[in-house]
Amino acid sequence: MHFDMVIAGGEVIDPGTGRIGRFDVGIRDGRIAAVDRALPTGQAAQVVDASGQFVTPGLVDLHTHVYWGATFWGIEPDPVAARTGVTTWLDVGSSGAYNFPGFRRWVVEPSQSRVYGLLNISSIGLTAPTYELANLDYADVALATTVIGQNRDVLVGVKARIDALTTRGTGIEPLRRAREAADRVGLPLMVHVGKGPPPLDEIISLMRPGDILTHCFTGHSNRVVDERGRILDYVKRAWEEGLILDIGHGSGSFSFATGEAMLAAGYKPDVISSDIHQLSIQGPMFDLPTTLSKFLALGMTVPEVIERATVRAARAMGKPELGTLAVGAVADVALFQLEPGNYTFHDVFMVPRSAKERLVNTRTLRAGQVMAPTLEQPLHTWAHR
Ligand SMILES: [Zn+2]
Repeated sequence: MHFDMVIAGGEVIDPGTGRIGRFDVGIRDGRIAAVDRALPTGQAAQVVDASGQFVTPGLVDLHTHVYWGATFWGIEPDPVAARTGVTTWLDVGSSGAYNFPGFRRWVVEPSQSRVYGLLNISSIGLTAPTYELANLDYADVALATTVIGQNRDVLVGVKARIDALTTRGTGIEPLRRAREAADRVGLPLMVHVGKGPPPLDEIISLMRPGDILTHCFTGHSNRVVDERGRILDYVKRAWEEGLILDIGHGSGSFSFATGEAMLAAGYKPDVISSDIHQLSIQGPMFDLPTTLSKFLALGMTVPEVIERATVRAARAMGKPELGTLAVGAVADVALFQLEPGNYTFHDVFMVPRSAKERLVNTRTLRAGQVMAPTLEQPLHTWAHR
């Protein structure tokens, strides 16, 4: 049997198929052609020795900002993909209706990594750091639904940032409009929470099963646990009914205290995403493998964190064919080393936790092609801290 590449001898972690253990992965024509205990390597054009490493589906990052050069937050996806294993990026609301055409033409189309988007209910998107919903004229439901309707190959849902600054003076009305847009196009709504008002109960009451609550382990006023660290009843109810809880670490939205309270009570997040952008890439978030390593430090297992950054993220964005090494799937693959050492990770409040291991990406394949390391753009003038 001919293969373009065989990734041999690695520890496969593919929660989507349930395949976890020592397997060889054969790739042909950009797709997974075979996964077996021992594949014949004689006719393989290339053999990659993965012994001592994890072989996972390319990571699917459910919360990112990759609209470089036209928004406050955006970074370039490909250089980061090549060194982190992220092969699919969901850009959440960097573009709104007015600047979506540029996002499509200058980011989605030329990128080697795969980029999808959620359209911001604010037609100016995230051009500026905040206040995008403080002017209701920008929350144009008809325009947003038209743009989504014309770009369903790229746009998989609606995004709204609902916190005290983004909505300053407009209350819950922007979220009502985002709800209406999502209902009209029949796609999920991702809502960012942080500091209220609006308060969390009012926000959750407008969310539905299949919607995504991002920044779910925030330490700010709209956190999902009470003063004593117990999950709020209405959050638990909405979660049980199918609301998706997503991490979105970012520069302001991950608290070890909230995370530890939730995990101690047996509540693991549905999806672990980075919220990578101009500020968070400088730390303490850094990148998705670092974020996953923090959850290892909190006691989750490697298969558990990989599941939440591959197949579960793919399902949440309505792309169940991604985030898996199933035979026939596109060969988006990542290799990781679990490096032992003495590490200190920080949450966004610079609270430290020590760890004995971290996940380090060693190779990233997109549709069977190794992604070459490329130079990253320097940070924008406003992002230096
Ligand atoms: Zn974000």
